[in-house]
Amino acid sequence: MTNNTQQQFLQAMGIPIWVERSPAQTEHLPTQNNQIWTELKQRVANCQACQLHCTRTQTVFGVGNHNANLLLIGEAPGAQEDLKGEPFVGRAGQLLDNILSAIGFSREQIYIANILKCRPPSNRDPAPDEVNQCTPFLLQQIELLQPKLIVSLGRISAHYLLNTTTSIAQLRGRVFNYGAQQTPLLVTYHPAYLLRNPIDKRKAWEDWQKIWNYLHEHNAIN
Ligand code: SF4
Repeated sequence: MTNNTQQQFLQAMGIPIWVERSPAQTEHLPTQNNQIWTELKQRVANCQACQLHCTRTQTVFGVGNHNANLLLIGEAPGAQEDLKGEPFVGRAGQLLDNILSAIGFSREQIYIANILKCRPPSNRDPAPDEVNQCTPFLLQQIELLQPKLIVSLGRISAHYLLNTTTSIAQLRGRVFNYGAQQTPLLVTYHPAYLLRNPIDKRKAWEDWQKIWNYLHEHNAIN
C-alpha cells in the first residue's frame, strides 16, 4: 500500500494520519513449532466433524506469523475465503489490510484466524454445534501462538470468546482477559460490518488506535 493510498484511506475514514514505524519494528521473526502447525493444519484439512465439510471447497485454517503478538479472530470463511483458502480476502479483507496498514502493520506480522474453519452455506451464522466442534482447533492455535493481545472481530467471535450475548456496542472499548493465560482481549467491528455500516468506521478507528496503543505500551509490536 503506497503512502498516498494510505492517506486517501485515512482521509476517507476522517481520521488522523499515523507516523509510519521504522523498518526495525517490521522485521519478520522466525517461525517456531513448524511441525506442530503443519500437523494441526492437516488435521483441519481432513476434518469432517460437522456438516460444513460437505459444502466447503476447502478449509480456511488461518494465516500469518507464528510468533505474532497480535491475533485477530473473525467469524467464519465467506465465499471468497472458501475459494482461496485464506481468511479475510475480498472487500472486507482489503478494508482490514487498509486498517492494518494505517497503523503500520502487515499480515505478515500478525496472525488471523476464524471461529469456524469451513464456510457456512449462504454465509449464515455458525450453528452452536459447529462452533463446539470447530473451536478446539482455534484453541490450539491460541495455545501455540500465546499472543500478547487478541482482537475479536465482530459479534460471533466476541460472543464465543467472552461467553456473552452483550452487543458489540457495549463490548468495544474495554479490555477483557481471555482464558487461563488471562490474555488481554479487545473487541471491534468486523470489516464486513463496516462495509455495510460505514457510519461506524470512526468508532472502529478509535478501537484500532486503542489496539495500537496497547501493543505499543506493552512492547508488543513485532
Ligand atoms: Fe471440521 Fe470445523 Fe470444518 Fe466443521 S467447520 S468440518 S469442525 S474444520
